[in-house]
Amino acid sequence: MEVRELTCVACPMGCQLTASIDNGVVVSVTGNTCPRGKKYAETECTHPVRPLTTTVKVEGGKHPVVPVKSADAIPKEKMFDCMKVLNEVTVKAPVQIGDVIVEDICSTGINIVATNIC
Ligand code: SF4
Repeated sequence: MEVRELTCVACPMGCQLTASIDNGVVVSVTGNTCPRGKKYAETECTHPVRPLTTTVKVEGGKHPVVPVKSADAIPKEKMFDCMKVLNEVTVKAPVQIGDVIVEDICSTGINIVATNIC
């Protein structure tokens, strides 16, 4: 049985969680004040994901870059590959909030969208 100590990041309370893992399965979570903490611990111990926020280059815009984010959290192991793709992306102005900048990035099924205009 493996035991992991985690800090829940699902809200600013930052509850200290203890997850017990048996053969890759989370069998118990303690320390959570609400059900979101249990779900966070289960995901973090089995398939961690993170939101991705960065900028991409813009051609012909008011600014040289525009901020973007993933429409959903991305598997942690794909973060580096996603950043490599986004470092190579240049979009043409105008860019609107919510425009899809990269569809299905790195076959995650998740789109990268603009979070500002440019
Ligand atoms: S367990 Fe619930 S209350 Fe505690 S940090 Fe996570 S989301 Fe917030």
